[in-house]
Amino acid sequence: MLGEIAQTTIAAIATPSGPGAIGIIRLSGPDSLPIILRIARTLLGNAPDLRSHRTTLVSILDPDTAQLVDEALVTYFKAPHSFTGEDTVEISCHGSPVVLSQVISLLCREGAQLAEPGEFSLRAFLNHRLDLVQAEAINDLINSRTTFQARLAVRQLRGELSRQIAPLRGVLIDLIVRFESAVEFVEDDLDPLDSVGIFGQLSHLIDQMERLASSYQYGRLIQKGVKLALVGLPNVGKSSIFNALLGYDRAIVTAVPGTTRDTLIEQFVVNGIPVSIIDTAGIRETIDEVELAGIERTRSAAVDADYVIAITESSSLFPSVERQLFSDVPINIFVVNKCDLGPVVCREILLTIAADRPVVEVSALNGQGIDKLRQTIFESIVVPRTASDESPVITNERHYLALRESIISLKVAHADLSSGFTEEVALDNLHKALRSLGVITGETLIGDIIGQIFSTFCIGK
Ligand code: GDP
Repeated sequence: MLGEIAQTTIAAIATPSGPGAIGIIRLSGPDSLPIILRIARTLLGNAPDLRSHRTTLVSILDPDTAQLVDEALVTYFKAPHSFTGEDTVEISCHGSPVVLSQVISLLCREGAQLAEPGEFSLRAFLNHRLDLVQAEAINDLINSRTTFQARLAVRQLRGELSRQIAPLRGVLIDLIVRFESAVEFVEDDLDPLDSVGIFGQLSHLIDQMERLASSYQYGRLIQKGVKLALVGLPNVGKSSIFNALLGYDRAIVTAVPGTTRDTLIEQFVVNGIPVSIIDTAGIRETIDEVELAGIERTRSAAVDADYVIAITESSSLFPSVERQLFSDVPINIFVVNKCDLGPVVCREILLTIAADRPVVEVSALNGQGIDKLRQTIFESIVVPRTASDESPVITNERHYLALRESIISLKVAHADLSSGFTEEVALDNLHKALRSLGVITGETLIGDIIGQIFSTFCIGK
């Protein structure tokens, strides 16, 4: 895909599959204009006069049979003023999958090729319309599940992270140039390197990069979210609490123990962080095979979860199976349910079991304590900063790893210099650090890896 891009013209449906009011087809490459002109006519039957950045109403016709396929709005973007940097045409058809596939077939018959996943964005990247961070931000934006994820993706699309990286690269390049000069012109009458200044600059650079890298702790939470599992014996009210936390009835609640035989997963958002809540099957001694399978899933859900909430009921005397459960899985919060039924008999024993972990008394039935439980959950999720903080956030693991590698190389260079090694030795690591930094925006990535990154995008993007 990387070698061929300049000559070919690609086409793809850019809107989701299935019927809709409008379906958009994208065409990009040197033959975009001649191809569309072969299948588009004005409503009077003439060749349309397509001007760049103007939208024209046309009939799409099969040139072989003169059969009308659709009426569509066509927008032409002349190179280099388009998303891909190439001649591009967007055809807004009626959103019928049949019509869209007919138009795509016509375009291909007239010389276009079906686009590979992510090929439009790849072309935009190769034509320097976007850097890699921005291209990835488009992908993140399209796949965002919360408004905060979308907001961050838009900020990155507008170059926020790239702008953050650029001055860091600038400082690093400046250091490299000074070192190179010191090595190259060692015999000339140049001023010796100001080692105090260099150390200061290097340490400052490392600090700034560390600060940026540490934002990934928060960025990761925003992107991946946290998993919260509800565990407890059957009938203690897990499904009722699950529903109360979500604010609507998703789980079936019955008085028969073992109703939630499978696990249910739903999501809510806390401070921009998606929280998946997992209602697991209750754990108890059982001989029912289906229930046994559910219980096994409970244990593994609890192991997979980032946070575990253990639920008991106010009258519990903590039978051995419940004690076993509470010591088997790592629990973050204890909840006493059914507090509407009278005095909380289990309070004292539970406080001993919980030690310093929070215990919240609730009634899923009348809502008492549910807000407090929500609050306790929010406080338990380690949020290193808040959603309102507008400084740049790393949300992509690839960016984080590249940044970390760059920091490691800088630290090695710093240590080498401190131990009295020559500038030549340190230079090697400074170059490594620069290459790692360039990996983030795509300046120093090899074709294969770039191809791999874009292949995770969907077709038409
Ligand atoms: P699970 O098996 O742990 O998921 O428990 P459910 O949520 O299905 O609840 C089991 C039974 O306990 C149902 O009859 C619920 O109506 C009842 N229940 C749940 N929460 C409460 C509560 O806070 N108070 C009272 N009185 N009953 C509750």
